Amino acid sequence: MELSDLYRQVILDHNKSPRNFGRLVPADAEADGYNPLCGDRLELRFDGSGCAISVASASLMSEAVAGHTRAEIESLSQQVIQMLTQTSFTPKRDLGKLMALAGVHEFPARVKCASLCWHTLLAALAQAHATVSTE
Ligand code: ZN
Repeated sequence: MELSDLYRQVILDHNKSPRNFGRLVPADAEADGYNPLCGDRLELRFDGSGCAISVASASLMSEAVAGHTRAEIESLSQQVIQMLTQTSFTPKRDLGKLMALAGVHEFPARVKCASLCWHTLLAALAQAHATVSTE
């Protein structure tokens, strides 16, 4: 499958039915994220509203991080942010479905939409409650 097809398929699917959407009370960590360029807003414990890319990315993230330790999640988040922001990226390990997010390169204006939840997640792990803006 072409990366662009995978990208479209995964993004559309996760935007239409976001996984693990809703409030987890109590949450292990929480943070709010805001991307003023697109209006994406999310509160981790995964709750938010945004464009297809930001919702799909957060949904994929919620699946990818479930059951992992903080250290693993931090390392994964950094990998994904690198993938989103670097033109030539070779993952240190198989990122699975998350690789679909690499397709965001075709839409530079959407990189911040896709990275928002990952930055927010890192902030959530760094402190009990954080507010993040991509600006
Ligand atoms: Zn967006």
